[in-house]
Amino acid sequence: LANYRGRKVVVLGLARSGAAAAKLFHQAGSVVTANDRKEREACPEASELEALGISVVCGGHPDDLVTSDTALLVKNPGIPYSAAPIRQAEAMGVEIVTEVEVAGQLSPAPIIGITGSNGKTTTTTWTGEILSAAGLSPIVAGNIGRPLSDAAQEIGPDGWLVAELSSFQLKGTTDFHPRIACLLNLAETHLDYHGTMEDYVASKAKLFANLSEGDTAVYNADDAVCAEIGRASAGRQWPFSLSKRLTVGVSVEPPFTAVGEDESRETRAAERWIVSRDESGAKTRIVPVDRLGIPGRHNCANALAAVAIALAAGAEPASLREPLEAFKGVEHRLEYVGTFRGVRYYNDSKATNPTATIMSVSSLPAPLVLIAGGLDRGSDYRELIPLFRDRVKGVVAIGETREKIHKVAEEAGLTNVVVVEPVEDAAETLKRAVLEASALAGPGDTVLLSPACASWDMFPSYEVRGRIFKQSAHTL
Ligand code: ADP
Repeated sequence: LANYRGRKVVVLGLARSGAAAAKLFHQAGSVVTANDRKEREACPEASELEALGISVVCGGHPDDLVTSDTALLVKNPGIPYSAAPIRQAEAMGVEIVTEVEVAGQLSPAPIIGITGSNGKTTTTTWTGEILSAAGLSPIVAGNIGRPLSDAAQEIGPDGWLVAELSSFQLKGTTDFHPRIACLLNLAETHLDYHGTMEDYVASKAKLFANLSEGDTAVYNADDAVCAEIGRASAGRQWPFSLSKRLTVGVSVEPPFTAVGEDESRETRAAERWIVSRDESGAKTRIVPVDRLGIPGRHNCANALAAVAIALAAGAEPASLREPLEAFKGVEHRLEYVGTFRGVRYYNDSKATNPTATIMSVSSLPAPLVLIAGGLDRGSDYRELIPLFRDRVKGVVAIGETREKIHKVAEEAGLTNVVVVEPVEDAAETLKRAVLEASALAGPGDTVLLSPACASWDMFPSYEVRGRIFKQSAHTL
């Protein structure tokens, strides 16, 4: 930061990470202008920054925001590169970064960077708990909530900064250099932002670009593109796999076989262990797969990644088992709510597309009563039909897509299908849905809220939807 003392720094986007970056550069002696397109009333951070003497401009991007004497532009990850001030900065040759790049320069502690299309929050949280149990003093931050640069200021040299990183954040990095880089998986998402799959993959690959000897590349060996990125890096190769027996890395033994295999009905599940094998050939058994704190093959993959990271950070193998078993998951992601009248309730409100719902329904014991439906984005719910046939005994449909879900459930041959017509108070509608589901479920069954849709037709966020579901279940 000292390089920017006395020089002009523009911070674009005044959310929490932008405010954190503005304060940092101001403290370091830069001349900071913070700007947001939103009106002032929608920028709660503005007053605090102004009180510090930072110049704040809200309600649009002025033409003279970026000038020839601008040394650096720190952009909010969500702002597209097509935005006018960024195009202007590019044209003037101004360096453009995200706050993550700044945090990377600042952290006295080694950084663990975790990215991927799915499972980032789960794996990052789990890794934090495992490192804590191992006495390695982690702080978890980044895309998960707290700005990474905040955490970088708090952490000491003996801790580990565990960073959840999105492709948007990584695209704005140049010298960011984690000690351990982890790539979970790659799916076709966010193409509206990145334009092409190549740009998306290249952004993720940036996490590995600065690894050198002494650093570690943790990657999913079951995904060809992830493996290619990991192998191309200069770090120690430390892959993980659900379906291959790795000579070096963390894997499941005996491995899961065909893709799509349903492990909850797999008789050998109880014999499966997570196992690590290092370069010396030493094999260490970590934990039986069926003892993991959260269910599902996708969460087993997240556990493999967390184990690989923890071992790379120097955790004692024997310390891993307890936090792997005790982990309760992250709120709204296949979250166990409780057992009421012999029925287990799960909140999976974060499942905002059919793919996520398929993953969740396959992960829980059948038979299930599913509460689904929400904002209509034109998804094809017919993907759910095989699952409805195999594992679901009843469906309660809510929200804008209720009739579509109803139709698909009938097509699958289900007879227990209830459509809950909306009442004015959305919370009341969801409460009725929970009552209907409880009437369809018998002892030993599972009730799952996994909407396959975003929440905005009824609720301000998936978090609000999930909390109302949990409250309703608790009052049964
Ligand atoms: P992210 O932070 O990347 O959005 P989360 O940990 O919040 O991921 O999980 C969101 C949803 O993604 C979960 O509810 C689950 O349906 C799905 N998911 C989680 N882990 C994986 C994985 N390893 N592979 C595929 N899907 C996953």
